Amino acid sequence: MSWSLSSPNHNNTAGANTEGAALLDPERLRPYLERAVPRYTSYPTAPHFEPDFAQATYRTWLQDLAPEQPVSLYLHVPFCRQLCWYCGCNMKLASRYAPVAAYVERLLAELELLTAALPARMSISHLHWGGGTPTALEPDDLERVMAAVRDRFDFTQDAEIALECDPRTITHTMIERIGTLGFNRASFGVQEFDPTVQAAINRVQPPQMVADCVTGLRETGVKGINFDLIYGLPHQTEASLSQTVALCAEMAPDRVALFGYAHVPWMAKKQRLIDEAALPGPAERLAQAQGAARAFVDAGYVPIGIDHFARPDDPLAIAQENGTMRRNFQGYTTDVAETLLGLGSTSIGRTPSGYVQNASETGAWARAIMEGRLPIGRGLAFKGQDRMRGAVIEALMCYGSADLDAIGAAHGEPSGWWAHEASALAPLITDNIAALDGGHLRVQDTGLPMHRIVAACFDEYLNASRARHSVAV
Ligand code: SF4
Repeated sequence: MSWSLSSPNHNNTAGANTEGAALLDPERLRPYLERAVPRYTSYPTAPHFEPDFAQATYRTWLQDLAPEQPVSLYLHVPFCRQLCWYCGCNMKLASRYAPVAAYVERLLAELELLTAALPARMSISHLHWGGGTPTALEPDDLERVMAAVRDRFDFTQDAEIALECDPRTITHTMIERIGTLGFNRASFGVQEFDPTVQAAINRVQPPQMVADCVTGLRETGVKGINFDLIYGLPHQTEASLSQTVALCAEMAPDRVALFGYAHVPWMAKKQRLIDEAALPGPAERLAQAQGAARAFVDAGYVPIGIDHFARPDDPLAIAQENGTMRRNFQGYTTDVAETLLGLGSTSIGRTPSGYVQNASETGAWARAIMEGRLPIGRGLAFKGQDRMRGAVIEALMCYGSADLDAIGAAHGEPSGWWAHEASALAPLITDNIAALDGGHLRVQDTGLPMHRIVAACFDEYLNASRARHSVAV
């Protein structure tokens, strides 16, 4: 975690120094910390995708794909069997299975439409089921969709096949089926184990429940286990999170993501159920994040990017070491495919030509499919310096540094193309948050995760944006 470690770079992984960070006065940094900036899981970011994006454009992009290049596939399930109040996802509460069953039929139909638009049978290097809760599907339905995917695609030999699980509602049958279907990675929203915090966010899942799930999945052959944790939750303290990290370490997940709770009730209406008075303030949030980061490093995990941790032998830690780690909508990833195909309402896809996002309203998504249309809601064709700026932002988010001239040259820009950004960076350089040496930009080791703030200097869309983002820490 960058706020307690040396700035991440290709060589700064295992054994990173948790004591060496040059901590700056948080008061001095407060204006930056309170700045609302994107998480940069894409560039341009999703709020800038254009509505009424022509599906003919997407069809051309798909036809133009190189058939020999593996792709990634993302399948979205917008249903959950229980509602978590902190949730910012696009999901529906599924109190009956009928809507989920109908959704599965449409998903199968969308798969047919999408594969018919591809230039050839292609290979998948990464497949990810997200949501919502993919395990809200009946095991037979999960199997039907996976069989349909295998009918239409090949998988690369080392393909990662992953899904998100909810330990509160997953069944033994589902756990066994996940193993037989060839999944090799599963992720869990652990968030926090303290019972008071769990009650305050309406996500009650005792440690034993999660541990049983992890054990069951490992026994069926799912080798990779990911946990998501959150700091900054109502009633959460440094001590409660520290206890959570200790319990997690006993379960030995291969990867952990540690996110700050983003309280955006104007966008995520479920969050209105959260008691704002019980939310920790900025200093407490910071202490929680720093304490948890230190504890994971002490437990033998390698800090990854700004908010992930991995066991040293995990492919993500190795990718960071090799300089091949990427950042996408799932966060830090080993996925190097240039094309991500999205299935399901709200899912986002990417091709070398731009982004597309499916209709987020499930009814509109289903209607488009029934009419034989790809259910695109919005999209964005890369233009101007989008790709280059995206590469700079990804480098900063992954490694805390970017060789601006080298990235510019790879995109046909002259040396020094970043003169305008240098003025935007000047206050950050004065405050020792960033350093610019020739064309080499580095996020400084302030003891705080300032990568998003530095990356935002390269975001041409941000100033024009009316989208409200979460604060930087
Ligand atoms: S946090 Fe996950 S399980 Fe909870 S409501 Fe949101 S999508 Fe569903």
